[in-house]
Amino acid sequence: MTDARLTLRFLGTGGSFGVPMLACPCAVCASPDSRDKRLRTSALVTVNDQRLLIDASPDLRAQGIEHGVNRVDAVLFTHDHADHVGGIDDLRAYNLRQDGKLSCYGDARTLAAIQSRFDYIFSSRPALGSRPQLDLCEINGPFTLWGQEITPLQVMHGEQPITGYRIGDLAYITDASSLPEETVAAVRGVNVLALNALRHEPHPLHLSLDEAIEMARRIGAKRTYFMHLGHELEHEGTSRLLPEGIKLAYDGLKIEA
Ligand SMILES: [Zn+2]
Ligand SMILES: [Zn+2]
Ligand SMILES: [Zn+2]
Repeated sequence: MTDARLTLRFLGTGGSFGVPMLACPCAVCASPDSRDKRLRTSALVTVNDQRLLIDASPDLRAQGIEHGVNRVDAVLFTHDHADHVGGIDDLRAYNLRQDGKLSCYGDARTLAAIQSRFDYIFSSRPALGSRPQLDLCEINGPFTLWGQEITPLQVMHGEQPITGYRIGDLAYITDASSLPEETVAAVRGVNVLALNALRHEPHPLHLSLDEAIEMARRIGAKRTYFMHLGHELEHEGTSRLLPEGIKLAYDGLKIEA
């Protein structure tokens, strides 16, 4: 499919609350296992030497510092929920360092929500302080970045259609509750699949662990990693429940696609 060298680093693998969840007394939130410490879901994909950030989580600053992300060349947004866009203001640091606008890709709905929620960023009034310099790029189908084709995938997040991405032999699907058949077909048999799995109990907006396992089987990736994990899913114990070829991701995990 592609000759580009692709890597995926999970910058955060937690659900919208993160793990530990603020003010939660449960055993997973108190776990000493570093793999049970999950910042909000976000990832860094490298395409050869270019760096593509997927979502700007509210933990973006901490994630960038922890993993030495000193440059970001473009951002892909999956949708506009707070746990995926809350770190947008921290993109300023990359603007300053790189001296230029940052291209941000997303569907029309996501970009419109970003523009209204972060209206100060797009205001034409002069600012004394710094604002992110973002170039919003609406995606309507496959597009190419640095010679690499990127295919947007329709993902259902409850009633809301949101966007997943296929980048070469890597598929990144977060916040899915179900997938249209065309999306399953578009990613079937990829090398690496990153997919969300929130908890054991069903949830109206997210795949449960069992639903995610079933979805992963249908897709049949060579390697599948679950992310957007809630505090019900302790790493060690949950890992023992997973079939061959499926693992829980954890913050900082780096995969060669
Ligand atoms: Zn989310
Ligand atoms: Zn908890
Ligand atoms: Zn969401």
